[in-house]
Amino acid sequence: MMQRAIQSVTVLGATGSIGISTLDVLARHPERYSIFALTADCKWQLLAVQCLQYHPRYAVINNEAAAKLLASELREHGCKTEVLLGVEALAQVAAHADTDVVMAAIVGAAGLLPTLAAVNAGKKVLLANKEALVMAGGLFTRAVTEHKATLLPIDSEHNAIFQCLPNHRADYLAQGLVSSGVRKILLTGSGGPFRTLPLADLKHVTPEQACAHPNWSMGKKISVDSATMLNKGLELIEACWLFNARPEQVQVVIHPQSVIHSMVEFVDGSVLAQLGNPDMRTPIAHALAWPERIESGVASLDIIATARLDFSAPDYERFPCLRLALQAAQRSATAPAILNAANEVAVAAFLNSNIRFDQIAQIIDEVLQRQDVVEPDSIAQVIATDQTARQLAHAVIEGL
Ligand code: NDP
Repeated sequence: MMQRAIQSVTVLGATGSIGISTLDVLARHPERYSIFALTADCKWQLLAVQCLQYHPRYAVINNEAAAKLLASELREHGCKTEVLLGVEALAQVAAHADTDVVMAAIVGAAGLLPTLAAVNAGKKVLLANKEALVMAGGLFTRAVTEHKATLLPIDSEHNAIFQCLPNHRADYLAQGLVSSGVRKILLTGSGGPFRTLPLADLKHVTPEQACAHPNWSMGKKISVDSATMLNKGLELIEACWLFNARPEQVQVVIHPQSVIHSMVEFVDGSVLAQLGNPDMRTPIAHALAWPERIESGVASLDIIATARLDFSAPDYERFPCLRLALQAAQRSATAPAILNAANEVAVAAFLNSNIRFDQIAQIIDEVLQRQDVVEPDSIAQVIATDQTARQLAHAVIEGL
């Protein structure tokens, strides 16, 4: 039997929800994967535990004091992992010649440059950091082609769509979905924790309630995005870039059980769906091993116990953020980057209890109205757009 070469993996955002699930899957397959680098923003204690367990060559952290504490903890335990500091080091490990696979699981716009560094180095990139693609979709996908990177979706919906779409991916990427017999993509979403809450009560929901997703355990930012359904809007934009779809080819469907992770409808009337328990280790294992399959640790889906699957149309009065995201998808150019930046500022303000839940949509709307939308021709322009939108969002918050 032919010996398979061990793949060397960098996990950007190792201390987050996706990062931890990724390490869980990797640990099940030491004969296939080794860990090259692990990164975090500031959670040095957890990063230290991960380094002592997985012995990566590098650990990257953003905060200087945390870097010193991490280095001293690792030294004390005789761990040889080298500690690097800062944003440039993130890009450096993501693009390093000795890493084959990069899990892009930093949350928010902070993930853009390190993820792009991996793409520009032609790596196999597992994309959880949807914000990177939302911000810079055209430039990002062009870089994927130009540098022959392999981009695989980790978002459970996009991973499901990828599994349902025809195998000849190059065809739909070059000629559009219709040429591959696809009529539309059905992007499912649970509707989050406030799907049935009386509308008047949305004003009073707390960060704790917004972060308590009924089906998925996730980081705080994406949990709030799921509660506003802005997440589904970001996913729609992400789907357009990943699968060369137009916004009107993607239909958002509310499916509260989160058992179907999305569907694809073909011109002959066939609809293919991917089902599974709501556990991110399934898409992570799928993307890691693609086109092979590996064990993920996820329990078998008990389809009998699942019993029923419900579907409905999204309610735009309840979820104005979803409507704003659809409009940004249609406008394209820098509109999605503005939407994303305003949302990141608004969500952080909500999590700090500085604004109400229903004001998130109001802030995004005002920033989108105030800022010009242009076709970006460089990443520097995308980042400048992001910065301006953040300043505007802070100004809107101050004026509330
Ligand atoms: P978490 O908040 O749980 O983790 C985020 C990770 O990014 C942590 O390792 C964090 O470090 C690191 N990080 C945060 N800010 C920075 C920064 N400025 N620079 C460098 N690193 C940073 O997020 P999730 O794991 O939930 O989500 C990660 C990405 O995956 C998001 O883009 C999300 O939309 C996407 N995603 C997540 C899903 C999920 O189930 N969680 C599902 C589908 C997509 P530290 O721990 O030190 O703060």
